[in-house]
Amino acid sequence: MPGVRPPSVDAVLRAAQAGLDGRDRAAVRAVAREVVAEERSALAGGSKASSADELAATMLRRLRDLEISTRAGAVGLERVINATGVILHTNLGRAAWPRAAIEAAVAAAGAPSLLELDRETGRRGRRFSAVEDEVIALTGAEAALVTNNNAAAVALAVGLAGRGGVAVSRGELVEIGGGVRIPEVVRRAGARLVEVGTTNRTRVADFEAALAEGRAKLVLRVHPSNFAQTGFVEAPDAAEVAEVAHRHGAVVVDDLGSGALLDTARFGLAHEPMPRERLQAGADLVTFSGDKLVGGPQAGIIAGRRELVERLRRDPLARAMRPDKVVLAALAATLRLYRAGVAQMEIPVWRQVGASLDELNRRAVDVFTTVAESQADHGQDEPCPVLAVDRTESTIGGGSLPGQMLPSWAVLILGVPPDPLLSKLRAGSPPVIGRIVDGAVVLDLRTVEPEDDAELAAVLAAALQHRPGGER
Ligand SMILES: *Cc1c(COP(=O)(O)O)cnc(C)c1O
Repeated sequence: MPGVRPPSVDAVLRAAQAGLDGRDRAAVRAVAREVVAEERSALAGGSKASSADELAATMLRRLRDLEISTRAGAVGLERVINATGVILHTNLGRAAWPRAAIEAAVAAAGAPSLLELDRETGRRGRRFSAVEDEVIALTGAEAALVTNNNAAAVALAVGLAGRGGVAVSRGELVEIGGGVRIPEVVRRAGARLVEVGTTNRTRVADFEAALAEGRAKLVLRVHPSNFAQTGFVEAPDAAEVAEVAHRHGAVVVDDLGSGALLDTARFGLAHEPMPRERLQAGADLVTFSGDKLVGGPQAGIIAGRRELVERLRRDPLARAMRPDKVVLAALAATLRLYRAGVAQMEIPVWRQVGASLDELNRRAVDVFTTVAESQADHGQDEPCPVLAVDRTESTIGGGSLPGQMLPSWAVLILGVPPDPLLSKLRAGSPPVIGRIVDGAVVLDLRTVEPEDDAELAAVLAAALQHRPGGER
């Protein structure tokens, strides 16, 4: 029927009156407008007209759904099962926090705390210095400062050069990811980039030359954390660079990226530089992420010489980069697990790095068996997807230890088109994220929390019931 108008927003609100009990009027009116606008487009498309009462019912249902989903914590960040074998998956939110960090965060979120109040004097104090004390204890630094993320920490630290030169090896002029490039970080900080050495080989003498001419006030070392150079390559020793820099009055900032607080070599991986080592090798400041190998919340950690840290703390930009109390509480709790000597047991990232092959094999066989039995139960007589348990390789990810692999065990699904099966798995409840290797879908058990194995099996079984690939 052309020319039919929807009921007015006020008419819908009046019809809904009885169901509106204490709800905020402005919020309710916004939803009423939405519902009326949808009705207007439906009418334009030739749909049957709804009454004000019907629209009121739609509006009340929508308000209740918003409320229910909020209370259930379902506000869009849906939990998934990470079966990719990439431990620090940037697209899946990097590190899952240890239990202690979650509890500390919940406590900090729900009540006032002594965030910036000194208990003794009753006056304003340093912002939650406990987390800095943890960093100091773990790195041997004189002082520490925490920012929103490591990109912020690097940008803040580079500011120490003022308008002066920042010397960086050409082999370390990297793009961190998401388009963030070191040369641009230096330029945006207002400093001048002084390129040193060559792409594949940089020596201490190259730094000496750049520094001797007084062209650089700061040496920035950047851990090439997302790529590896092999072949005819040479990088200068950190301690020698620091010695030359200090002789010429320059400051050394070492961006470690991940900043491992446990020795990765003990897990059969290459040795990842540790903050304490780099400070001992003469770096004035080190910076690293909170949510890479540290395994806690997103944060940037700056540790090193007191005088420099205090200068950064007074920088007005530091205020724009400061993390909130929930992150600070979670980070302090995460760091304390290292001091207590229980990081490998309590921090999910390290639990996954350290998971034993026997255990991974046993879990893969369990998931395989559950899925295979459920398929038999349903008596499928057509040719079945082939399930298998096989070896695979996991990686650390998140810009840590590029090219380093950890042997692992996986459930493989062969004999069906892999892309449609991956998308069925993503549509599962909870979504399961896998990967494709040589045409097979691979579900790596290393990055799945053991308590999620049963759900993983159920989602896989369901995805195989509605066969991918459109055979019908
Ligand atoms: C990951 C990384 C960064 C950025 O850290 P965020 O915490 O993601 O901001 C900076 N530098 C290096 C070397 C990195 O690997």
